Amino acid sequence: MRRRYRLDWVLLPEGWARDVIVTVSPSGTIDAVAAGATTPRTEGDVERVAGYVVPGMPNAHSHAFQRALAGRAEARAAARDSFWTWRHAMYAIANQIDAADLRAIATLLFVEMLEAGYTAVAEFHYLHRARDGGWDLASDGAPATWEAIRAAARDTGIGLTLLPTLYQAADFGGVPLRADQRRFRATTAEFLDAIGRRLTADRAAGATAVRTGAAFHSLRAVSIETIREATAHLRALDPALPIHIHVAEQRREVRACERATGARPIDWLMRAGVVDDRWCLVHCTHATRAELAAVAEAGAAICASISTEANLGDGFFDAITFRGARGHLAIGSDSQSTVDPTEELRWLEYQQRLRRRRRNVLATADEPHVGTALWRTAALAGARALGQAIGEISVGRRADWLALDPAHPALAGAAPEAALDHLVFAGGRHAIREVYVAGRRALAEHRHPLRAAAEEAYREVLRRIDAR
Ligand SMILES: [Zn+2]
Repeated sequence: MRRRYRLDWVLLPEGWARDVIVTVSPSGTIDAVAAGATTPRTEGDVERVAGYVVPGMPNAHSHAFQRALAGRAEARAAARDSFWTWRHAMYAIANQIDAADLRAIATLLFVEMLEAGYTAVAEFHYLHRARDGGWDLASDGAPATWEAIRAAARDTGIGLTLLPTLYQAADFGGVPLRADQRRFRATTAEFLDAIGRRLTADRAAGATAVRTGAAFHSLRAVSIETIREATAHLRALDPALPIHIHVAEQRREVRACERATGARPIDWLMRAGVVDDRWCLVHCTHATRAELAAVAEAGAAICASISTEANLGDGFFDAITFRGARGHLAIGSDSQSTVDPTEELRWLEYQQRLRRRRRNVLATADEPHVGTALWRTAALAGARALGQAIGEISVGRRADWLALDPAHPALAGAAPEAALDHLVFAGGRHAIREVYVAGRRALAEHRHPLRAAAEEAYREVLRRIDAR
């Protein structure tokens, strides 16, 4: 059955509009948007959505299992702690988690994402094998951990692009995986077969909120020849398949790539001729202006995960250059040290302010409100990265939106035009009162219905893995 909503105030692609009727198909896609509606508010079959309605935010980069490490790697373990010492702690957690644990961790995480305003997530997933390094397969023939992620998305109602990730080597030159990386390993044939089966199942299910993509862990973990060959196979399976890769996050990785190939990592990847507008390059922290221009030119998205890049001491992402090249800049929660799109966007702007000693740096000629400029850009780039029709409230897109409470102190006194400035820069995430995914209310009155149960299950998982 079609559903109709009356939105008091809504941010449409052309700007803010008042009293808008949105019609949503049974599958959750927006069929019609009628501004200036005169339908009486009391009409029975129209659901009123009060407050300021804005597009839901896609989270373009997540490793769900790392939620179990958040806050637990902040004590100094070596004289010079770095990304690489953090990685030891991350592998230790990864090797304690089975598929049931992962489902519980992801369920709480996805509840947190929805409450924070993320309405869909790209899960970059390389924890394929069981704890003993063997295969633990679900009834659909895919690894049980893939099904754990899908189940958590179904249970919580968040949109999902599952990105099974190819991970074959410990470093450039095909260095064999270490013992603590054995759960990540898959042959190219295993990887392609499992993705092919998942795509067939997705098509049969006709689901609009869940889709499958693919990822290559990094240029360290997969050779450029394999990336080329696997991409050709993936494109034959689904020409629109989203493909992600971590690239240029750490200086050490840049130097290792230069030693192994004679080129910087983004340059090396772009030269392979595979990157197109269905790709998302994660991090790109250490990039030249020419590299960023080449990514923008290809139409690929970049996902900056500022809170994680800051937490791990990676470096600054050059948002000004990439935006200046009309690049598609998405955001992600990555290591889950922070699960909050407003913090990602705030720090995207703040790191530019600190470097340039200026204010309102990422506003545009068309959009002087920095909060609005950042939110709209990241929502549309995130939609591109997830390969889903989301990111704005318009016909043909999925009905994913947030309703902000204008009476909340964080938004008090804000006209609709300034609502996203307050959301991003004035602690406004607590003003997110309702969240809709595919036209269905995933949370009301700021709280997800599964929160209490998910917290209890999560505490139990932490007790279990700490005891192992
Ligand atoms: Zn990552």
